[in-house]
Order: sequence, then C-alpha cells, then structure tokens
Amino acid sequence: PIRPREELDQVESVCPYCGVGCALTYNVDRERGAIVFAEGRDQPGSQSRLCVKGRYGWDYAASPQRLTVPLIRKDSSYPKGALSADVRGDGNGYNDRGRAGAGGDRSGGGMRPDGRPGKDRGRKPGGLVDYDEVLPHFREATWEEALDLVARRLKEIHAEGGPGAIAGFGSAKCSNEEAYLFQKLIRTGFGTNNVDHCTRLCHASSVAALFEGVGSGAVSTTYGDVINADVVIITGSNPTANHPVASSFFKQARRRGTKIIYVDPRASTVAEHADVFVQLKPGTDVAFYNALMHEVIRNGNIDRDFIANRTSNYDALARTVAEYPPERAAQITGVDADTIREVARLWGEARAGVVYWGMGISQHTTGTDNARCLIALCSITGNVGRPGTGLHPLRGQNNVQGASDAGLIPMFYPDYQGVDREATRLRFEQAWGTQLDPNRGLTVTEIVKSALEPGGVRGMYMLGENPFLSDPNINKVRKALTALDFLVVQDIFLTETAEFADVILPATSYLEKDGTYTNTDRRVQLGRKVLDAPGQARPDWEIVQDIARRVGLDWQYESPSDVFDEMVELMPSYANLRWDNLGASGKLYPNADPEHTDGTVVMFDERFNTEDGLAHLVPAEWLPAKELPDAEYPMVLNTGRLLEHWHTGSMTRRSFALDAISPVAEVYMHPKDAADRGLVHGERARVRSRRGSIELLVRVSHREQLGNVFIPFHFREAAANLLTIDEIDPFGKIPEFKFCAVQVEAL
Ligand code: SF4
Repeated sequence: PIRPREELDQVESVCPYCGVGCALTYNVDRERGAIVFAEGRDQPGSQSRLCVKGRYGWDYAASPQRLTVPLIRKDSSYPKGALSADVRGDGNGYNDRGRAGAGGDRSGGGMRPDGRPGKDRGRKPGGLVDYDEVLPHFREATWEEALDLVARRLKEIHAEGGPGAIAGFGSAKCSNEEAYLFQKLIRTGFGTNNVDHCTRLCHASSVAALFEGVGSGAVSTTYGDVINADVVIITGSNPTANHPVASSFFKQARRRGTKIIYVDPRASTVAEHADVFVQLKPGTDVAFYNALMHEVIRNGNIDRDFIANRTSNYDALARTVAEYPPERAAQITGVDADTIREVARLWGEARAGVVYWGMGISQHTTGTDNARCLIALCSITGNVGRPGTGLHPLRGQNNVQGASDAGLIPMFYPDYQGVDREATRLRFEQAWGTQLDPNRGLTVTEIVKSALEPGGVRGMYMLGENPFLSDPNINKVRKALTALDFLVVQDIFLTETAEFADVILPATSYLEKDGTYTNTDRRVQLGRKVLDAPGQARPDWEIVQDIARRVGLDWQYESPSDVFDEMVELMPSYANLRWDNLGASGKLYPNADPEHTDGTVVMFDERFNTEDGLAHLVPAEWLPAKELPDAEYPMVLNTGRLLEHWHTGSMTRRSFALDAISPVAEVYMHPKDAADRGLVHGERARVRSRRGSIELLVRVSHREQLGNVFIPFHFREAAANLLTIDEIDPFGKIPEFKFCAVQVEAL
C-alpha cells in the first residue's frame, strides 16, 4: 500500500541531473526503504519547479543492476574490448516492437511502477551492458583485497613509468568533497596533474575563454537574473531539453517584456518562444558574433566609458570585427544581412542584456573563440556587472561547476589557481605537505591519446565517468582502454567503460550519501542521504581515502564536512561557507555573510578577477570546422541530449518513467533529406562517418536544417560517438561534438 504523506519521511536534497540544481524533497517510506515521490522545494533558483527528470528520475538507485560488491577481473587473458563488441551501433537491443529499452521487457532493467525491482537483473535485449555476458569474467572480492590490489598496481606502474604513467578521471556527478579528494589523491599520491573530468567534454572552452577574459570560470550572473534584462541572447543551447527549469525562467521573463534572441542551427522549442530566431549554419558562430559587433560599433551602440575603464585590447578587437560586415557574415552563416542588423540593433539599444550559452558554442574546435566573441560582445556594450547583464555558460551536469571549482582539472588547483605558478604551487605544497608537479597535466582527450603512445599513461583510476560512450571517436577510446596495463573503475553500475576494468569498486549513488553540489549559478547546496546503500557499496569519498592511505598518504577525514572545511580554507571564492550555514536553499558564492545573505548574484560590478582588474578582449577570426561535408559524407552531424535522458544513460535508462517516455535512439533529419534518400519516419537507417557507422530509427523533423542531422548520445545500441571526430579546440581541448561529416542511407 502507498502510505499517506504524513507517514513518510521528508529528506531535503538536490536534483542529481542538470546544472540548474533544483531543490527537491524526497518522500521516503522507511519501512520499505524506498522513495515514494519527489516534489520541488522553494529555493531562489528553482522556486519549487522540477522537470520530468527531477520528478520521476530517481528510481535508478533501487535498480537490481546496482553494483554491490567489489569485483576483480579473473581472466586477464580475455580480450577486454571483446566484452563490449556490441557497442558497434548495429541497433541491437531492438525488441519486437522495434524499440529499444533498458531491460527489453519492462520487468527487467528498470523499476516497476510500484517502486519494487523488476524480476531479474535486467538482461538483454536492451540498451545496457549484458551483465550475464560480462560478470563471468570477474570474481567477487572483499574490499580489503580489491583496495590492496588497486593501490599495489597503481604504485607499481608509478614506480616503473613515473608520474606521467598515471591518470585519473573524476566525475561531475560526485560531490564537491569527492572531487576535491580525488584530485588531491592524484596530485599528492602520484605526483601528477593528469586529472580531469567531463568538463573537458562540456564547457572547457568556455572556462578557458572566461578565465582569460574575466579571470573566473564561473557565471557572472544567474539564470534568474533574466527577469532584469531587456534582451537576452540564448545561443548554442536547447534549454527546454537540457536546462528545463532555467528555460521556464526565460519564458516567464519574456511574458514580462524581456526580448529573446535565439541563435542556434536547430529550431528547438525555444525558437517558438523567441522574438528573433536566427538559424545559422553550424560552426559559423564567430562570423555571426563578429558581424554583430561590427554593427554595434558602426551604430555607435558601444559603451565607451566601460570600454575605456573596464576593458583592454579594444582597438585590436575593433580592427578584426571591421572585416565582418553583415553581407560577408551572411555568406558564411546563411543568415540574411538584415536579420544580423536587426539583432545588432536590439542588443545594442538595450539597457541591459545577458548571454546564455550552451554546448553549441563550446563543443567546437573553435569553442574558445566562440566564447571569446560572447565575452567581447557583452563587454563592449557594457553588459557585465549590473543586474540583468552578464555572461552565463549553462553548465551541464549537476556538479560540473563544483568539480571544476574543486580543482578536478589538470591546469588548476582548487579555485582555478594555476598549477604552473610557483607561488601557488608552494602554497598548496605547504597545505598538502608534499611536493607537487609544476607542469600542467593531460586533459581527458589527451589522456586517451597518451594511452596509445609508448611511454604514455599506463594506469588509470576512473571515478564515475564512462568515456566509452561519452568521448569522441570511441573506437579509439576502445583501443586506449584496452591498451592500459591497469584500469580501476568506481561506479554505481556496470558501465560500458567498466567492462574494460581490472577492478570494479561499487560506489553509492548521490541518494545514499551527504555532500555539497554547486550549480550553474554558483549556488552551493547540500545533498542529503535519503536511502541506505545497497550491499557493500560505499561513498566515493571513503573509497578514495582508503586508496590514499594505501599509497602512503596520512588522511584522517571523518566526514564530508571535514573535507568541505579544508576546501574552503584553500578556495577564496568559497570563503565564509560552512556546512552548517548553507541552509535549506544553499548559498551563492562569493558570499561575505552567509548567515544573513543568499550571496552574490551579479559579479564584476567594479572590477574583473583578472590581475589588472580589466576584461581582456580577445579578437577571433572565423575558421571552418575540421571535417567538412563532401560527396561521400554530404551531411553535418550534431550530437546532444534529450529531455528525458542524461549523458550515457546509465541512470536515466534505468529509470522506469524516463525510459518509457524515450526508449529509442533516433536520427533527426529534415523531411526533404529523408525523402531524397528514400527514408521513412519510424524506419531504420544507417548513419556513416569516416570513423564508424550506426543503425537507428529515422525521425523526420522540421527542427533540422537541410543537410544536417541530430543524434542524441545516450544510446549504447546506436552510439553516436562511434561517428564523432576527436579533433579538439587548441585552448580548451574540447572535442568537436557538434560538427562532423556523415552520410545517412536506407538499410
Ligand atoms: Fe533536475 Fe535540471 Fe530538471 Fe531541475 S531542470 S529537475 S536540476 S534535470
């Protein structure tokens, strides 16, 4: 029986999915040890709202597929890649209804509607790892044995190959404390800065541009500040799917008079709420924004005082954008010159404007240049540092902001303090009591490359990442993972990447532990333990500490709040925050008085965080994408997410409601492109690139431009990253997930 609300426990926590970080309350039946329902909770950033993922996407934690005991590979001669042979995109997993599902029949992979587990472990057919195929190659182990083996092998590889032979991928799904401890372990236990996480696949280029331009990798204002803006540009983003509650704030602001300019190659539903929709060709953002600045300057709509007193390098920027009149930009972008002039006028004449951007800006080989243009556009019009103005890269994962803040990146210690600055390094050496590597480490994309090179990375610690679905060109990732001498994977499910592991450590989900999480607005919130961990699964921070002790570090943290206290000591941006002053709504940083205030909404009102206090304007020339369409591969592939799913699907595809709504991989394409190829909506097609091919269903969609297709990357059985190119942005080192050449053909 479903108990009435008053008989349920209420636990206040945070949504585990997107960077909006909605506050929610889980209603828990303690007798059954199960969540009954979730509801939104009032907090300035989410105001009790939830999207479908927050409201219904929590049952994955009770999946019978959870990892509950440490596992050690018993058959080291078995070729690791062979276990994942079905990740080849042949669409396997389609059941007799032509639809894929987490558990094939619905009683398997996900939970039943009454919250009880399905009848078996959720085996094939389905979109997930086949446990019965993989598990026979592993044996159960005690924690002692598994942790001893991990520490011994990583130490041996370190001794043989030096610090550069070790690398760690942390996770933006873990808490701030876990991100902090993980990077500290790799840096102090193995003497290397080879530690990174999925920000490299997300907003690394935005962070590179922001750090260079304004001296901070975080947003300058919140998404809720949209209400104070006359005009906003939403660009390279589909917030209805990817930041749904933030999107509701945008729509609400428009009803109260804020003009929305939406710039994107796809006509996603935001376009229906926009005052001006600019459907530019993919990969032409620099040309478009240079032309906007050209027009803003020509119209005299710049803020001369702001430029003179708050910026540097304006003359160089003006010289560059002078070469981008609307007519030239129109040829590159496909946007007519009059629309460019109209947008420039709207933006230039506004009293206050914010730019919100997503991965359509960042996930290009020109991602840093794209973000530089947005920083420059805001700066020359004085649109930073006042209410209703600013720069906001909409962060993807629920804690990608916090993981980056906590130093889970190879070029920065916590709080973006550069590893290559001697004074900084000496300070961290003193704080952590050991010598540190003075060189920047390798990024996610570089670590994969290094594992394929002689003398490169040989041993890896993978915490909560799944690069065998999330990284570009995964045939190359397959080779890299197979080539490693030792791989330990710590996760809550047997992910595609875990199939390559030598040791698998079962971790708790966020529902089974305490921790802090920092959302896209810089809001630090408490996530609280809701459920007991299944089997022997343990919190990530405890596992990391146990490995640290085994490699010789004297760590004595007794709780996540101990770790948080140490972080705050070393992170000026988090100054004054404490576990017990975050309250029910969390606090924005920076925050001079968390006991009495919510924190700083608008940053940079007087100076930027750069050394000279000025915004550095960096001009950018438009460059084409690395792989352009040709006769053999005439279409452009864009990859991204769906509303109901999250990244590699390890959580959402095990959530009954979410997988029921969106169970199948599809390629979205323009009706004429489909008709020209004899493709029919709902039937299967093959998509090929120079790197691989996948088979999936056709979805005819007026939201795509002619010559462009969109494929979500959540689906193992049609893995979009078999197609993508592993070219990277030279500054942010982010891959070009938004552009490669493909062909689509009938089967
Ligand atoms: Fe969760 Fe994001 Fe949806 Fe809010 S908008 S409920 S944080 S997925």
